[in-house]
Amino acid sequence: MIIAVDGPAAAGKGTIARALAKHFGYHFLDTGALYRMVGLAAIRAGGEPITTPAAIAAALSLDPSSFTDAELRTEKVGAAASIVAVIPEVRAALLDFQRSFARKPPGAVLDGRDIGTVVCPDAHAKLFVTASAEVRARRRQKELGSADYEAVLVDIKARDERDSKRATAPLVAAKDAVVLDTSEMDIAAAVKAAIAAVEARRVP
Ligand code: C5P
Repeated sequence: MIIAVDGPAAAGKGTIARALAKHFGYHFLDTGALYRMVGLAAIRAGGEPITTPAAIAAALSLDPSSFTDAELRTEKVGAAASIVAVIPEVRAALLDFQRSFARKPPGAVLDGRDIGTVVCPDAHAKLFVTASAEVRARRRQKELGSADYEAVLVDIKARDERDSKRATAPLVAAKDAVVLDTSEMDIAAAVKAAIAAVEARRVP
């Protein structure tokens, strides 16, 4: 059983995907963390602006078990992730790891941007979790503590633009995805709606 959870930055997909994995007893993979690791490694190896060769080298030598760096969650690394994520060779280098993770029994939940469209087009259940850019910026601002709302909104919109307009695996809802707009929902309501959507598609 594979559950794909896609959507833009700060829409709540990570929270929902983790809750789904816990509820159903499945494995969970935050695929954004893979791109963040590549972005961070590329900066550390070659500085900024990130170059394509540095990003490709970082993706090819990625050790996905080194998931714990606190710097991964910063907006700066989120932006770096969306820059390296545009490069087709980087995406290709991360594909096998994601696909073999998805096949882990008894099931897996993967969250990202292209899980339902490219990584696991045959996923049994697909959710596209979204919310308005303003609501997402407020949530991210809260998460970051003292950050300035307008600056966070600008970052979120820039990331949406880069993720949606890229040629390879752009951010788009799969045709067979259930769209969940969490703008007006709290976490409990969003998780409940996600579980119901997956239950409707679950293989016995
Ligand atoms: O989800 P998160 O904010 O951690 O993702 C960081 C960036 O990684 C995204 O903005 C996107 O550019 C990229 N990404 C991607 N495909 C995925 C997951 C993340 O392109 N499956």
